[in-house]
Amino acid sequence: MNAAVYFDHNATTTPDARVLDAMLPFLHQPQGNPTSRHSFGRQARAAVENAREQVAAAVGAHPSQVVFTGGGTEADNLAICGIANAMSPSIIAVSAIEHPAVFRPAQALFGRGWQAARIPVTGAGQVSADALCDLMRQKVGLVSVMAANNETGVLQDIAALAEIARDHGALMHTDAVQALGKIPLDFDALGVNAMSLSSHKICGPQGAGALILDKRVDIQPLLRGGGQEKGLRSGTENVAAIVGFGLACEYATRELTEHTRRMTQLRDRLEAGLQRLGATIFGGEVARLPNTSFFAFPNLEGETLVMAMDKQGYAIASGSACSSDSTEPSHVLLAMGVAPELARGAARVSLGAGNDEAQVAGFLRALENERNRWQQLTAMAV
Ligand code: PLP
Repeated sequence: MNAAVYFDHNATTTPDARVLDAMLPFLHQPQGNPTSRHSFGRQARAAVENAREQVAAAVGAHPSQVVFTGGGTEADNLAICGIANAMSPSIIAVSAIEHPAVFRPAQALFGRGWQAARIPVTGAGQVSADALCDLMRQKVGLVSVMAANNETGVLQDIAALAEIARDHGALMHTDAVQALGKIPLDFDALGVNAMSLSSHKICGPQGAGALILDKRVDIQPLLRGGGQEKGLRSGTENVAAIVGFGLACEYATRELTEHTRRMTQLRDRLEAGLQRLGATIFGGEVARLPNTSFFAFPNLEGETLVMAMDKQGYAIASGSACSSDSTEPSHVLLAMGVAPELARGAARVSLGAGNDEAQVAGFLRALENERNRWQQLTAMAV
């Protein structure tokens, strides 16, 4: 049986029907190129600029600060490599729990004279401000810490960390891909210099994202060509996806309070059940995204649980879906000091718009059956 209940919204979401409706006209022929001067081109340009306003408004920024990209990964790469390439090499400090879209480009700077330093996290998954202060005694030029972790959902105090970076003359980037649409975000209040966003995590289409930039920051493009996006991201804009992203931002902002209330209620219900079944919940003691629960049962492999629950009709994730070809325990949990045996058991439920209480109750029943079945098997094996 194919999974019928989708509990993997931190991996991707289904586009909102209202978003799809708004995109469709831009996929029909004839479609203008936003750089063309004729009426088709002007129409496409107007749509892109309208979306720029919607994205900027979602994070309290000015439209001129928005650089459209092909997604969150590209926004992260542009931030890390683009900013570093405009500076003289020093140290880039990234938290130990970053998504590969941040830590891989940070590692790639190594060959260009940069050094990479990892900012440790506490057992609860929070980036330690003290550890960042210690690191800043060295020559750190760029700091990158995510606003919310994709696996645990743990939120970081970005404003405090950005202040430390600023006080030491470093620039600060935050990957807010998982935070957008789930918690309020204000670019200026956070005091960062760059922020990455992605469309498909907020019921927008895949393949669109943005880097929000402090206008004082020097940055080099990664893609050179026709000079779109003020020369920072050459290439014909993906107009339909950008239109969808803009509208998804508008809905996410408008519906944030109600969405948060619903998600928190469902997540708390889920976690009460998980605890009753004896699961460990990671990061449960600190502020988290309202939709995310990352948990493990001792001696039960996360991958095994994902496959078993898929058979029962529930789509969940083990570790990070974006690197699910790897069977290594989650680097996020290891950074939090979780024992590798328990970390291997980690599974994530990330709730979203289509989920309800009946689905959560059904999931808990299926999970209990699975846990009992597996406990009997282990008892027989001893
Ligand atoms: N950053 C974080 C925290 C993510 O969770 C993801 C995707 O899961 C990305 C970046 C990459 O975004 P995209 O899939 O839009 O490239």
